[in-house]
Amino acid sequence: MRYSLIADAYKEIEATARRLEMTELLVKLLKQTPKDLIDKVVYMTQGKLCPDFFGIEIGIAEKLAVRAVAKATGYSEKTIKENVTTIGDLGETTEIFLQKKTQKTFFHEPLTVQMVYSSLDKMARATGPGSIELKTSILAGLLTNASPEEGKYVIRIVTGNLRLGIADMTVLDALAVAFGGGKDARKYLERAYNISSDLGKVAKTVVVQGMEAVGEFQISPGEPIRPMQAERLSSPVEILEKLGGKCIAEFKYDGERVQAHKNGDQITLFSRRLENITDQYPDSCELIENCVRVESAIVEAECVAVDPDTGEMKPFQELMHRRRKHGIAEAMEEIPVSLFMFDALYVDGEDLTLEPYPIRRRNLKKIIEQGCHVKMADYIVTDDPDELEWFFEKAVESGCEGLVCKSMNKDSVYQAGARGWLWIKYKRDYKSEMADTVDLVVVGAFHGRGKRARTYGALLLAAYDAGKDVFQTVTKCGTGFTDEDLKKIPKLMKEHKIPHRHSRVRSNIEADVWFEPKVVIEVIGAEITLSPIHVCAMGVIKRGSGLAIRFPRFTGNYRLDKSAEDATSTNEIAEMYKSRLKKAAG
Ligand code: ATP
Repeated sequence: MRYSLIADAYKEIEATARRLEMTELLVKLLKQTPKDLIDKVVYMTQGKLCPDFFGIEIGIAEKLAVRAVAKATGYSEKTIKENVTTIGDLGETTEIFLQKKTQKTFFHEPLTVQMVYSSLDKMARATGPGSIELKTSILAGLLTNASPEEGKYVIRIVTGNLRLGIADMTVLDALAVAFGGGKDARKYLERAYNISSDLGKVAKTVVVQGMEAVGEFQISPGEPIRPMQAERLSSPVEILEKLGGKCIAEFKYDGERVQAHKNGDQITLFSRRLENITDQYPDSCELIENCVRVESAIVEAECVAVDPDTGEMKPFQELMHRRRKHGIAEAMEEIPVSLFMFDALYVDGEDLTLEPYPIRRRNLKKIIEQGCHVKMADYIVTDDPDELEWFFEKAVESGCEGLVCKSMNKDSVYQAGARGWLWIKYKRDYKSEMADTVDLVVVGAFHGRGKRARTYGALLLAAYDAGKDVFQTVTKCGTGFTDEDLKKIPKLMKEHKIPHRHSRVRSNIEADVWFEPKVVIEVIGAEITLSPIHVCAMGVIKRGSGLAIRFPRFTGNYRLDKSAEDATSTNEIAEMYKSRLKKAAG
């Protein structure tokens, strides 16, 4: 197949903004494509060589591409670069310079799709010393044989600028019309795509084996399933109404979505965008290997950074430090993760995606062994808006973004690749960021584990309510303590230890150790939130809710100069909440 067929089609596609016309042009191109090349043509049309999860990218730097154009056309790199600046696009510049090529070649071998594909593939796979020269010379070779128009598209594809605007769904429409007998075939092709994430494979199946084979497409561990997504509403009443009066409400953990595939002892992890992130999370792979007790499975989880000493969840930003290619072992130690499991899509040969959510969840629970770092997503089943609101506050206070409320109805299938109303996220509209530190009274403590086995893992802290002359808990703080602090605190608190909660301390939380309210420490948090658990300023902002400080950190200041009654008051915290209340973005 001549590459010029593709270049001509691209030119026409580029000239239209109408989806229907684009589909027709694509149908024409696909029909002209030999069966054995159909997958390659589909990938190339999307500016790729294979599906994203293969992890092979064509992309080369513009500087190298300029060098190759100079080599192929006989003009200097400087001239090419200057023209790119005025013309604004290297593709067009290449077209112009190929037109006025000074180094006339005697043998002009017409470009074929096979030649272009295999050259791009070689370029993409070239690594290590000498790879830059190799890439440049392969590209220059292609350009030498290319017509000006072909050269334009070759350059655009290698620099990642093809941008024809052809959506996945347009390709599916075109396949349906070209080979499926009409538009109605689209839903079967779409399903095949949603469970394989591989448009080329779908195209090849329909062309070589026909629609029947497309209908029999199977989930296969190792091939990512396009993720189901959630719609959004902002009130518990609306959410329950939309979900038929009752739902499974789960914590919406604030981490990275992971789709884990287990196939024997082979574990593969995919991100929300279906990149292969297996190498980034060796610890998660090990967790999946150990906790999934079947031979093969596809499960979904949110991967969250946790404090190694207290087990508490950390903000999303912390997890982003794990997004790196080098120093993975160090990052793993510094930022350990936990997996919160929320779906099972496939278990030992059985496709669960068309089962209702309660059944998928039951299967998930059955096949995983929960432990310290692997847990089922925290949930309730409810038909009561007040209970939903209570659970929402609990989620936010625990370090989550809010809730994902899920349909329990018979039709609550896993909608691969779709954002629908079977899952509804409930996030906060408002948040109150903390700008100032507060001084809080240590009223209790929790035993540590791991490195903190001999000391406290976290302290229970309270603010002072002058009106009632009591101390009301506002947060549990396990962050910001140095090794020295950890040694010092048990000694400092020893003389204040009491066998039960102090009569002037108000708390809904059972601490492992209680103290008389004497010692004050300085803390800063990320924000103040409504809380169903902490009793600080209970009922002041909202009936039935107190206030809590989220992601608190000890600043290092022991306020030994302050008495417990000098601590920040519950009123001050309520004022801080009100004054910093902001509409949250997104
Ligand atoms: P957002 O930016 O709000 O996270 P999003 O566009 O990334 O939204 P949505 O589909 O709208 O994704 O929201 C669902 C996301 O929430 C999932 O992609 C997943 O990463 C995360 N999540 C956390 N906990 C859960 C849970 N229990 N069930 C489903 N998704 C969860």
